[in-house]
Amino acid sequence: MYDSAQQVKMGVIICTHCNSQVDTLDTDRIAVFYGVCDKTECRQMHSSIHEPQRGIDFE
Ligand SMILES: [Zn+2]
Repeated sequence: MYDSAQQVKMGVIICTHCNSQVDTLDTDRIAVFYGVCDKTECRQMHSSIHEPQRGIDFE
């Protein structure tokens, strides 16, 4: 028998910086996604990574 009442969220979003669970998703198979949680330090790391690096040119 198949228990259709049991809903299992198979997908999980993991913070790339602290590896904590950020959120869950309904997926048809086990899947792990990477994102960023709401911690200030993780947000700051995330923004620093994605911030375009400005090279200083000495001419
Ligand atoms: Zn985090």
